Amino acid sequence: MSVQHEPVQRADFDQYMVPNYAPAAFIPVRGEGSRVWDQSGRELIDFAGGIAVNSLGHAHPALVQALTEQANRIWHVSNVFTNEPALRLARKLVEATFAERVFLANSGAEANEAAFKLARRYACDVHGPEKYEIIAASNSFHGRTLFTVNVGGQPKYSDGFGPKIEGITHVPFNDLEALKAAISDKTCAVVLEPVQGEGGVLPADKAYLEGARALCDQHKALLVFDEVQSGMGRSGELFAYMHYGVVPDILSSAKSLGGGFPIGAMLTTSEIAKHLSVGTHGTTYGGNPLASAVAGAVLDVINTPEVLSGIKAKHERFKARLLELGAKYGIFTEVRGLGLLIGAQLADAWKGKAKDVLNAAEKEAVMVLQAGPDVVRFAPSLVIPDADIDEGLDRLERAIAKLTQQ
Ligand SMILES: *Cc1c(COP(=O)(O)O)cnc(C)c1O
Repeated sequence: MSVQHEPVQRADFDQYMVPNYAPAAFIPVRGEGSRVWDQSGRELIDFAGGIAVNSLGHAHPALVQALTEQANRIWHVSNVFTNEPALRLARKLVEATFAERVFLANSGAEANEAAFKLARRYACDVHGPEKYEIIAASNSFHGRTLFTVNVGGQPKYSDGFGPKIEGITHVPFNDLEALKAAISDKTCAVVLEPVQGEGGVLPADKAYLEGARALCDQHKALLVFDEVQSGMGRSGELFAYMHYGVVPDILSSAKSLGGGFPIGAMLTTSEIAKHLSVGTHGTTYGGNPLASAVAGAVLDVINTPEVLSGIKAKHERFKARLLELGAKYGIFTEVRGLGLLIGAQLADAWKGKAKDVLNAAEKEAVMVLQAGPDVVRFAPSLVIPDADIDEGLDRLERAIAKLTQQ
């Protein structure tokens, strides 16, 4: 039996909600795999994946089962008590990665907030209060809390909110000389996205991450990888650091980790973790049983050789067709990214028009994303059927054909 609801429509957004978003005109009401239906019953193919979140598409049976089983057991206990799903998830994350300890949070920003606070705390405890500087990359994105917008290298997100957090420097991404010039013994952490997501789907060079690792070791700074977008299978490896063979000291995960249920995680070593001793940090919901049960099921499905190699194969399928579209219509100049985090760089004539491509795609019933004004981004389900990739790209081609005719 389902609950009866009052009808709602897109106009209610403008009437009732804080205007910090500009959502599309249609309202999705149901999803299955990589297909979504809106209020009018129109079916769309989902290449947006809830912004790299719906790692197993919509209503994946393993996730529905994990969530409903847990919903019938226990929903919340707080961190005054621990719970079985959180412990199982933490153990799985430790067994699957470099990490020895896990802190569970509710979002990417919170996982990063914990990472940055830990980096400062560790440096303060071990090296003294002068070592608090954080170096991050220009154009990076780490979330929307005050600390994370300040570490993020996009002034449009951090300006206008009062005094900035001190001790944060930004250097150009993928520029090892610039990092070398900026780092010092006062640096407590270097924070990088192995693949800049919001900044335009820009993968780091291997030599850059290797160089950053060496500089951090030399200056006793911690290397923090923000894998909120690149992690949990998105890159074709469980985490992108595995693709590069460069191991961070602290790693943050979220987005794909929950497959659509809000959760974040900070992973680190036991040596570093011990500096977040009892009382130094916390969250009411972190490690919530519902979220942890779902994330545990996500990890079980994704962390298999079949699924991970499937992601790499699907990357090639996307890339080949996007390059073909790019050449045929003169719209894309480059297709880049790892796994199923793909960015198509718009040609000069299309600069600034990523939003127009999104809108045109939506009219042809395919949901895509942008990464800044010049890049069309794809972050679909990691198990999207090849037939849906092909059908979605057919629809995108129709959208591009119409757009380029105008
Ligand atoms: C999305 C994102 C975040 C922020 O995650 P939220 O869950 O929105 O707080 C942080 N870092 C990166 C790299 C992201 O892509």
